[in-house]
Formats: sequence, structure tokens, C-alpha cells
Amino acid sequence: MEAKGWGRGDFPRTLLAWYRSNARDLPWRRPDTSPWEILISEVMLQQTPVNRVLPVYLAWIDRWPTPARLAASPAAEALRAWGRLGYPRRALRLHQAARVIQQRFGGRVPDDVAELRTLPGVGAYTAAAVAAFAYGKRVVVLDTNIRRVVTRLTGTASPSPHPTAADYATVDDLLPSDGRRAARVSLALMELGALICTSSSPRCADCPLRSACRWGGTPTRPRRRPAYRGSDRHARGVILGKLRDAEGIVPYRDLVAAWPDPVQLARAADSLIADGLISRSGGGYRLGPASDVRQISGPAGPLAGPRQPGRRSASAPRGR
Ligand code: SF4
Repeated sequence: MEAKGWGRGDFPRTLLAWYRSNARDLPWRRPDTSPWEILISEVMLQQTPVNRVLPVYLAWIDRWPTPARLAASPAAEALRAWGRLGYPRRALRLHQAARVIQQRFGGRVPDDVAELRTLPGVGAYTAAAVAAFAYGKRVVVLDTNIRRVVTRLTGTASPSPHPTAADYATVDDLLPSDGRRAARVSLALMELGALICTSSSPRCADCPLRSACRWGGTPTRPRRRPAYRGSDRHARGVILGKLRDAEGIVPYRDLVAAWPDPVQLARAADSLIADGLISRSGGGYRLGPASDVRQISGPAGPLAGPRQPGRRSASAPRGR
């Protein structure tokens, strides 16, 4: 294997020295960050830039500093606090994960990759990231940035759009044996991919690893995203925005006023209902799954726990 033994050579020292001087000061990287906060940050950072995640992350951890707090809130509140971060199913999954952590793990985020993967919305990458960054376990964390840096660095081909067993083996060989040090190397590789070894314009002259790098390729052109304006995704976003800004039920006529194509509107609304992001209620729609309404009206559902002082109640008017 091309990268054999890198984890025991100068590579980690050089990379970590660069990381110490160049890493961005991000709240989820601070030493007192809890496993729950790391889980939230990892879910929010999926396909979303850091600058958009920051304000939402800070608001979430202030409001829901433990899984128990989030588990005791309606799913609609998690969706509302997600704001315009995009891919709102992530908010729903985090809310479901909080309830599973509460019910099955006694309120503690598990430290085992297999257990982490039983949480809703937690896939291979997120489970590895939480085990490594929250608990210092020596596991391979393989996101897009790390995969790109490592394949360039080691001169290994990347035949598949998805991580392969060979990719895992290559990164595994780069990591030091100590778990906490391995986690920092993973973070440093990620940061190098975000700041220096970018997909479309790598700054090799500024790279701390350039003397060892075997890359001789050409940068990847950024992929064109499908048009958003006028798409079903856009219609979904408009519906969610209207429901987020309202406290209770939004009449159908208000949605028609916001999106004039009724066929597309119905399709978007149906898909949001199927995803559990909204529900039909009293001739209109409300934010959150139908189970929210059942739990609010039930006598001893998960929402029957103590309410935090100073927090806005689910039925109070919103000041905007
Ligand atoms: S030298 Fe260039 S291609 Fe190689 S790891 Fe550094 S930035 Fe990436």
C-alpha cells in the first residue's frame, strides 16, 4: 500500500503543527464540548457550510444543552429552530435521536460506533466522527475532505464516488495509534481539505505536506447544482417557511397565496407530510409530524416533562 507507515513517521507531527497554527476557532472543537454538542454539530455540518451552521448551532446548544431537553420538546420546535439551514429532515432525525438516547442510553450519547449507528440519522461518517472527536476513539473518519486530501497525498486512485474498503485502509494507515492523537490528525486532514487542498483550487504552495504529496492531477470543477428556483424543493422551502413563522395552523389559502401552482403545492405538501416535517390539521397545515399533536394533547407523553423557565411555550405567540 502506498501510504504504509505514514502514521508512524513525520506526517502526523507536520500536519498537527500546521493545524495548531491555522485551524479555525470553531465552538464544537473546544475541549469542553460535550458529545451531544459534537453530535449536533456533525449533523448540521452535513452538506452545509460552517458560516451557516454557526448561529443555528449556538442557538440549539443554548436551548437544548442535553438530549433530555430536546427529547422533551415537540418536534415542531426543533424544525422551527432549524430555520433555513436546509435538509430539515436532519432536525427531525436529531429530535428522534435525542429521544432514543434518552430512552435506550440513559441520556448519554453512546461512545461505541455500532451503538451510535442505531441512532436515527446517524450514518457511518457521523458515528465515527462522534466516537473520535467526543471520546477519543481510534476510528477512521472518512468525509469528502479527508478522502480527497488522502487520495491526492498518497497518489491512490479514487475509482468510486463512495468510500471503499481501500480508502478506509489507506486512511487507517495514516493515523497514529493513540486514539486522541488520531482524532486530531483526522480533524487536521479535514481542515486542510477545507482551507488548502480544496476540490477546485488546491493551494499546493501553502500546503505543509507538499514535499510528500504524490498528486499530479487536475482540480475537479465544481458540480453544477440543479436549479432551485421554481423547483419542488423551492416549493417545500416556501411551505416550511410559512409554517415556521406561524405558531399554529396555517390555512391552505395562505399557502396558495405564497405558491400559485396548486398542483406543485400539493405535491410539495404531500412530500413534506410523508417526511414527517408537517401535518394536516383543522383545514390547514402545521409544522411537525402528526405525533406532535397527539403528544401535546396526551396526558403523559414525552412532552409532559418540566418546562424550562424562560422558554417560549409551544402555544405562545411568536414575537418577530
Ligand atoms: S500538495 Fe497540493 S494536492 Fe497535495 S495535499 Fe497539499 S494541497 Fe493537496
